[in-house]
Amino acid sequence: MSKAKQPNIIFIMSDDHAAHAISAYGSRINETPNLDRISNEGIRLDNCFCTNSICAPSRAAILTGKYNHINGVRTLYEDIDARQPHVAKILQENGYQTAMIGKWHLGHGGNSDPTGFDYWNIFPGQGEYHDPDMIEMGVKKKFPGYATDITVDLCLDWIEKRDEERPFFLMCHHKAPHRPWDPDEKHMHLYEDIDIPEPETFHDDYENRSYAAAEAEMRIDRDLRKRDVKADPPEGLSPSELKSWYYQRYIKDYLRCIASIDDNTGRLLDYLDEKGIAEDTIVMYTSDQGFFLGDHGWYDKRFMYEESLRMPFLVRYPREIPAGTTTKDFALNVDFAQTFLDYAGIEAPEDMQGASLRPILKGETPFGWQDSMYYRYWEHMSEHNVAAHYGVRTHKFKLIYYYGDGLGVPGARDVKYEPVWELFDLEKDPYEMNNVYGQEEYLDVAEELKNELYRLKEQVKDLD
Ligand code: CA
Repeated sequence: MSKAKQPNIIFIMSDDHAAHAISAYGSRINETPNLDRISNEGIRLDNCFCTNSICAPSRAAILTGKYNHINGVRTLYEDIDARQPHVAKILQENGYQTAMIGKWHLGHGGNSDPTGFDYWNIFPGQGEYHDPDMIEMGVKKKFPGYATDITVDLCLDWIEKRDEERPFFLMCHHKAPHRPWDPDEKHMHLYEDIDIPEPETFHDDYENRSYAAAEAEMRIDRDLRKRDVKADPPEGLSPSELKSWYYQRYIKDYLRCIASIDDNTGRLLDYLDEKGIAEDTIVMYTSDQGFFLGDHGWYDKRFMYEESLRMPFLVRYPREIPAGTTTKDFALNVDFAQTFLDYAGIEAPEDMQGASLRPILKGETPFGWQDSMYYRYWEHMSEHNVAAHYGVRTHKFKLIYYYGDGLGVPGARDVKYEPVWELFDLEKDPYEMNNVYGQEEYLDVAEELKNELYRLKEQVKDLD
């Protein structure tokens, strides 16, 4: 591929946007016409998964193409050492103009500031929704306005000022729809007169699972704070009415934040059309992980359960990807870096641990394509009290091992539990309500999955 043909790449990533809050994925609770455009004019991936469902670790995996035990960001308490090689550096060295705008969340200052970007402008830490401070190339400034609008304004400014002779790689990273879900003026009253449907598993009682689900502190009716729901609950509600009240308060603000992302994505897509560069520009939309939208009675993420494990991933590239397609092939966040490099015609370093998704995006599944994936959550019994675990997911089953130990990892609590397993039959039990580990008819399956788990652990070099 000649240099002149290298495509532009716009990687849009939101924070905590679950696939089941995108209408292209069949959302029952909102409409996202602009995100759907990417899917309608490109491809929707139905089995894209993160390898550790929490912000900083997923971001580090995307940037480095490596699992967290290799890139050094296993928990929120480990900042990235940005001196290590990563995809933006490689693209920059190979002639790409590069920018990182919005939520970085891998630490800042010292060795954690973005590297490999000609321009960067990031929210410190989680960032603020309104009038956020941002750190522009190392200098802190206040930006008046709403974070989602500002992020896209800055992206459009940067694209506008680029050298048109060279391709660009832009990471457009939204703060939204991360907690505490502060909407903008424009969407503040959206959904005011309607009730958002509650999910199927809203009243989960955590029976038939290990201790981990019951121990987690992310319950809609118990763990949300006033800052989250911005009001005191009305007096005199029954426990069940109170739970519904909390859900409505939470989910409406969450969806309002997404409505702004959707509008701003439309603005970006329109800009590419106006400038005549849509054909030469790959647009990707994802989120650093999924999220519980009242599923299992929860908000937040961290678990290897479906709603949290699954990432939305929509890609448009008119030159190569047929419009309106979908795939169930497995894709992982550690695959993204190699995918960017493949499109740029640059060979990936040997030690990246994923695989380029380019063939599956154009509908050509390579022989022997991955049909299992490895997951690991390290932050044992930390915020939200989720037990550390690792596991394997295949197309039909999921095996999870809660090993019951913080192992001295930063951010993990030093508290021990008996190790336990969970096994889910995803075809019969897509909502993972019934752990079948230890049941007679699943003994062989469990054994096979354990072998696969240990094979994957070795493959990714995560050896305890
Ligand atoms: Ca996140």
